[in-house]
Amino acid sequence: MPIYEYACESCGHRFEKLVRLNAEPPPCPECGAGVKKLISASSFVLKGGGWYKDGYGSTSGGSGGGSSSSSGE
Ligand SMILES: [Zn+2]
Repeated sequence: MPIYEYACESCGHRFEKLVRLNAEPPPCPECGAGVKKLISASSFVLKGGGWYKDGYGSTSGGSGGGSSSSSGE
């Protein structure tokens, strides 16, 4: 059985639990509210980063739409 990490949507309490694949998420042990399952620890690392380099100029060239003939038929 895999260990899933849950985060309470009410109080923000995080906990891990061994559950089956088809098991429903357990209620929050702190307040009993509904929780949501965190997919994996590596998926929310990228959020809120902002380490993008802003050096890219907007060189828009191909986003026209109209005169570009699509070779379909
Ligand atoms: Zn809670």
